Amino acid sequence: MAKMITCPCGWTVISPQGEDQAIKHILIHLHDIHPETAVNEAEIRATVKNV
Ligand SMILES: [Zn+2]
Repeated sequence: MAKMITCPCGWTVISPQGEDQAIKHILIHLHDIHPETAVNEAEIRATVKNV
């Protein structure tokens, strides 16, 4: 089952390889696009959806 995470800005990552990959991608997105945003991995993990 693929995992989807949507950033508050509307950017979405879908990873067929699982939650850890999806989180890795959104952490890169946050670092690049929202460097001022402090979100920890647990908070991101809470927003993961199955797709
Ligand atoms: Zn974003």
